Amino acid sequence: MKAGGVMDYWEGQAPAAGTAQEVLPGIFWIRMPLPIRGLETINLWLLRDGDGWTLIDTGLGTGEIHRLWQQIFATVLAGAPIKRVICTHFHPDHTGQAGWIVERFGAAFHMSAGEWSFGRMLWLDSQPEVPAYVLGFLRRQGWDEAALAHQESRGYNMLARSIRQYPHSFTRLADGQRMNIGGRYWRVMVGRGHSPEHCCLYDEVDNILISGDQILPAISPHIGVYPSEPDADPLGDYLSSLKDFARLPDDCLVLPAHGHVFRGLGRRIRALQAHHRERVDAICAFFARPAPAVACFPALFARPITDENRMLATAEALAHINRALREGRLQRRPEGDVTMYEAA
Ligand SMILES: [Zn+2]
Repeated sequence: MKAGGVMDYWEGQAPAAGTAQEVLPGIFWIRMPLPIRGLETINLWLLRDGDGWTLIDTGLGTGEIHRLWQQIFATVLAGAPIKRVICTHFHPDHTGQAGWIVERFGAAFHMSAGEWSFGRMLWLDSQPEVPAYVLGFLRRQGWDEAALAHQESRGYNMLARSIRQYPHSFTRLADGQRMNIGGRYWRVMVGRGHSPEHCCLYDEVDNILISGDQILPAISPHIGVYPSEPDADPLGDYLSSLKDFARLPDDCLVLPAHGHVFRGLGRRIRALQAHHRERVDAICAFFARPAPAVACFPALFARPITDENRMLATAEALAHINRALREGRLQRRPEGDVTMYEAA
């Protein structure tokens, strides 16, 4: 273990694209490219499962990753089939190749009901034009006409572009359920806040957590409020969900979906909790004077907010604002088309 700030990083190398690295007997790490700044790659886990394999998460639905999978199928699988695909949650870097892989091998597809149905709904709901209710939502957060026009030019809900085929059916995963994968028993742990019903897998015997995006070593997972549920409290969901993971042993080996394998779960959870508490405090301090959501970006983000990241920034700011509203630390009122927030 290499010291990595508050965590200890696993000393092994991350695998090169198109190859696999065995982290523990029967658990192989696969890494796929991801064209998102700050993430760059996604980790997928291939588990030996009797006379075949179980795959956890699948990569974005791009042609490049499709080709890398063919290469892995021809080499790493050693002639054995993928019998089961599990997706931790519906985001396209996790589900992008799922439908195709499931079909190619006739594999079973496992996911929580909340993730499967939300992702399937959004995939079917993909549309090139930005719906009026979305524009109204963004206008309420203080987007100006130039920002709205740019959003209209690039469309909304790109899920159909980044997921080749969303699986049409699934086998349900639920919190507390145990799965035998190649003689290892994994307990499903449902996390919330980053996505509706995110499944992590915990092996009690060897003390291993496949954490998906729920707990990442170097960044906080994206936590955002979107137009389909404007009053959601995903940060509250995330913070209460972290308490469940804080009960696991601190020295468990964490296999995250982004970044390097590490130990130091408890320390990482405490850092994530402190990070979000600080940001809620920063927001409350910022709204000493009434302003719309977009005004607080400089108080919340070090990076400049552009046409490319304004949607994500708005969603993240609202996650912290909605938490502060629930805690009674902020209040809001409409002013024309815009919602104004102010410290309570
Ligand atoms: Zn995600």
